[in-house]
Amino acid sequence: MNVHPHVASRSQALAIEIRVRGRVQGVGFRPTIWRYARELGLVGEVLNDADGVLVRVGGDQAAVAAFILRMEREPPPLACIEGIETTAYGGALPDEFCVAESVGGAAHTQVTPDAAICSACAQEIIDPSARRYRHAFANCTHCGPRLSILHAIPYDRANTTMASFVMCEACHGEYSDPNDRRFHAEAIGCSQCGPKALLVRLDGCTSGIKHHSMLDDVDAACDLIHNGAIVAIKGLGGYHLACDATNADAVANLRRLKRRDAKPFALMARDVDVIRRYCTISAEEERQLTGPQAPIVLMRVGGTDKLPDAVAPGLVTLGFMLPTTPIHLLILRRLERPLVMTSGNLSDEPPVISNADACKRLAGIATYALVHDREIANRIDDSVVRVTDDRPRVLRRARGFAPTPIRLPNGFGPSPELLAMGGQLKATFCLVKDGEAILSQHQGDLEDSATYDDYCKNLALYRELFGHNPVALVADRHPEYLASKLAHDRARSEALPLIETQHHHAHVAACLVDNAYPLQAPAVLGIVLDGLGWGDDATIWGGEFLLADYRRYQRLGTFKPIPMLGGAQAVREPWRNLYAHLMAEIGWPAFSMNFSELEVHTYLAGKPRALLDAMTKSSISAPLASSCGRLFDAVAAALDLCRERQAYEGEAAARLEALVDEDALRQENDCLGYPLTIPTLRGSGLPYIEPLAMWNAILGDLILRTPRSVMSARFHKGLAKVIVAMTKKLARQHDSSTPRFASVALSGGCFQNCVLLEQVSYRLKREGFNVFSHTQVPANDGGLALGQAAIGAAHLIDINNNREGLDYVPRNSRTDRDHR
Ligand SMILES: [Zn+2]
Ligand SMILES: [Zn+2]
Repeated sequence: MNVHPHVASRSQALAIEIRVRGRVQGVGFRPTIWRYARELGLVGEVLNDADGVLVRVGGDQAAVAAFILRMEREPPPLACIEGIETTAYGGALPDEFCVAESVGGAAHTQVTPDAAICSACAQEIIDPSARRYRHAFANCTHCGPRLSILHAIPYDRANTTMASFVMCEACHGEYSDPNDRRFHAEAIGCSQCGPKALLVRLDGCTSGIKHHSMLDDVDAACDLIHNGAIVAIKGLGGYHLACDATNADAVANLRRLKRRDAKPFALMARDVDVIRRYCTISAEEERQLTGPQAPIVLMRVGGTDKLPDAVAPGLVTLGFMLPTTPIHLLILRRLERPLVMTSGNLSDEPPVISNADACKRLAGIATYALVHDREIANRIDDSVVRVTDDRPRVLRRARGFAPTPIRLPNGFGPSPELLAMGGQLKATFCLVKDGEAILSQHQGDLEDSATYDDYCKNLALYRELFGHNPVALVADRHPEYLASKLAHDRARSEALPLIETQHHHAHVAACLVDNAYPLQAPAVLGIVLDGLGWGDDATIWGGEFLLADYRRYQRLGTFKPIPMLGGAQAVREPWRNLYAHLMAEIGWPAFSMNFSELEVHTYLAGKPRALLDAMTKSSISAPLASSCGRLFDAVAAALDLCRERQAYEGEAAARLEALVDEDALRQENDCLGYPLTIPTLRGSGLPYIEPLAMWNAILGDLILRTPRSVMSARFHKGLAKVIVAMTKKLARQHDSSTPRFASVALSGGCFQNCVLLEQVSYRLKREGFNVFSHTQVPANDGGLALGQAAIGAAHLIDINNNREGLDYVPRNSRTDRDHR
């Protein structure tokens, strides 16, 4: 970035115009530039326009060069410079460097994500001599709410939920002063003129809240939590439910009242030192915790203190975040202990954002609510990050990350505008505009009607915010996904072409975009391991080896298709998958003859076997699925981990991972991994992963009473090894119809499992493959929309080049019916 010809070519005084693109508006860019220019004795002006920020600057050549360098190296914290171009400037310049009026219509610049409170604001609110002492809404151009308070663009106060607050004289002074870090901070306010927090009772009791000894309502909330109460707290993008995480009764109460069986609770602590008492924290994990995105970071349990098991039942990770807003900071300031800070909702509903809803829907859970009068315009959940292989992996992309655009890789060019609708669970959607993919914040499970309404509302909001006019829609081929149904309706009503994508192909494409893999680069082997996705052969897919690029895919290998007994019930009840696996592999007579002494035999003998066996013969109540997720469920059930029912999606797999004996995993003894083989399916010749030998070994280990932690390590290791063996086999068998691949892309929800991801990628790299995995977008269905968008964009580019009609829906030419 350091070569700017117009700076280098002149010798002494010069004047240039600098165009800065990227996220440079509403983030304090102009005052920073103003300050740098003045400090270097330069003259000129800085202004916002439709393309970003324009700087005209004149002065000594060395000073101008230093100015550009400083702009590049020390931009304001929330800015993200995508490009700087310089040209010679011949016009007149003001005598003194100044901030000029903005010009141009609707700015096409980025909408900024919400950011955690910055250190300067954090310092102010605890400084008794500062004007904003204990002001629970302090923010500046470097921090605070953005997307969560935005109704429309441009990002001006009038278009935010701060519109109703009239700035006092002091705030107005700061807002107008380029030398102040609140220059044009649209959400500016103070205790005089800004929003106010109020503690209310939700239990119907009218006696009011006495807090003579407390400083204010926020402080009183802290006291109540300290004394064991559950308090609803209005955060940045939604309500939270908070209680003392070290108080086992309070945690158990919250679990019962929220009707949340086993799903781990998120935690919040005052600072990293408090977290360190409960978790081991790597340097990268600390960097994630303290960044402006301030996500929940999943870290391994460790340290000197322990939290009640009810915080994260059966897991060895805890999800911690640091205070994200002044309210949280003021509440936690006096607390040496962590708080549960879970989303403010009843089990599967989206978190509450309005005060009225909080009083209505959270009344049965929390006794008190700390409300305030700055409305949340858009619900934004907490983001979740896990560090694996020393790299941060976003598992839920919401607050702090969305809607930061992701640039489409080389070859996509500016690409036509399109809208990808995403999946069903962990739904997101994705806009493509000007060569960028704008992935929405996590929406949740669209089966829930409130979540679905929110999803529709956000589709309209994003269309508005980004001035988006799609020329085509993209959706998953699954006919029952609500997002796909909506896509069909909209395609009809708006006369737009609809591009349908295969679920696992979209996962591979998402991983490729995540790794900036160019459009024209050779196909990779996509290994996609997840729960369920619509296959091309009327079966369910979920453990697939696809030779793929953005345009095409070919299924080269799979997992053994096993009936899902009872369809969706098999997703909730792991024992059903265990039974189906054992019957498909061993059969009841042999299982009974060899393993009747096992407790799991007695357990399965108590199930309605005649009914299950009848189901197996029907493809409707027991569809075939080549799912890796269901294999995890079956193995977990064999080890008696949430065998009867899992309380949340992926619980069985998460518990299985938590069990892994790290020492057993590290031993390079090759006998250690369970044996899985790779025969080929009759007819198609498609190689598949066959778990028969693994099941015999698992049942044998159960008889030998091998520790479950060792069994779990053997399962993970065996699975990783067979995945690598399959990859090598597929790489060898290439011929004219199957090009050679050198790179492997790992995607699908199963790769949220650290052990599996580390084992597979380490072994693949050792075999000489390039390995791509997810970092910026989730490996789970939260990243699906991004992959759909890339496939759709590649398709439109081809159509434009070939001048074909737009109403073409690509379908996979290959159908693999053979293995049914
Ligand atoms: Zn700040
Ligand atoms: Zn004020």
